Amino acid sequence: MLQWVKTQLDKMTSPTLDWVQVEVTTHCNAACCYCPHTIMKNHWANRHMPIDLFHELLPFLKYTDLVYLQGWGEPLLHHDFFEMVSICKDRGKRVGLTTNGMLMGEDTLRRLVGLEVDIIGLSLAGATSKTHNHFRKGTDFHQVISCLERLEQIKAQKKTQFPEVHLAYLMLKSNFRELQEILPLARKTGVRQVVASNLTLIIDPKLASEAIFNDTRRADYYENTLKEIKDQAASEDIVFDYHGPGLDEHCTDCRENVRHACVISVDGDVVPCVLTNPVLCEGHELAEGQRPRYIFKGQFLPLRGMPFGNIGHETLTQIWNKKEYARFRDLFDPAIRRKPEQIWSQMPKSCVQCYKRLGA
Ligand code: SF4
Repeated sequence: MLQWVKTQLDKMTSPTLDWVQVEVTTHCNAACCYCPHTIMKNHWANRHMPIDLFHELLPFLKYTDLVYLQGWGEPLLHHDFFEMVSICKDRGKRVGLTTNGMLMGEDTLRRLVGLEVDIIGLSLAGATSKTHNHFRKGTDFHQVISCLERLEQIKAQKKTQFPEVHLAYLMLKSNFRELQEILPLARKTGVRQVVASNLTLIIDPKLASEAIFNDTRRADYYENTLKEIKDQAASEDIVFDYHGPGLDEHCTDCRENVRHACVISVDGDVVPCVLTNPVLCEGHELAEGQRPRYIFKGQFLPLRGMPFGNIGHETLTQIWNKKEYARFRDLFDPAIRRKPEQIWSQMPKSCVQCYKRLGA
């Protein structure tokens, strides 16, 4: 009886989420020069989400239509990845993942199509082999593009539109010119959506100047080029989303949809975004000077986790409805205008000192 009441209460107060992002692994087979996995490799927490923990979150899938299997790692490395996909699909969910494309052999491509995976995001950091392979060490541009072409052939054979492929292009000062090649590349590989994003978590000081929002002298050039590409994309029926180079100190419009989505870390922690994933902060017991830090406006700052609960101990409804989590989400309510001093005093430091909060 008590359990029945608890279940009914949970149902009545459960949220409706645009998606739930699940970090199935923090292992990665690549060594991208800007990624914390590479830069913090000496104390990086490499682990797969145990399948038992994944089973524990199944009751919460009812909150959402889309489960995105992605965190700080390459999801296709998880030995139970396809079982996780099947579980979600059996419950009628849409499933997405972002991959570096290096594990998409014939068998994997066929399984992704056969299981009717809905979205595959493919990460790029250049539109030529030289540039992409330089920034995304351990990956190979030609191999990634060949996989996409093969995927299109398999989809055509099976007469399906799915998985839909989205290109996720990381814009850097050194690869920005090549973004002009992204639409021909999208056309060639049958891609209908491209997202161009900024380097927002800067851990290596040498990369700070690579963030296009730090190259303020050329802000107009970046903005105009992005607009031109967007217009061209629209005329070709390709969706082109981008995060421009402009920063707005007073902005509270975090790119991460924190009001209507959440991330579940490899350990089951519920966090608003991957930047507040406690996995990033492992090693906090290290000596001063060795602790994980990031760079914001020229300052070194500690990485801070922001877990609101853990699905191993509480339901997602309980976690989502906690006062502190509700208060946190309200800080990003576009209907509530806040003065700068309110933003700085009310928001957690992780968000005040985050380029995504500034609109990057
Ligand atoms: S502002 Fe930054 S740290 Fe805060 S929720 Fe958004 S992405 Fe995460």
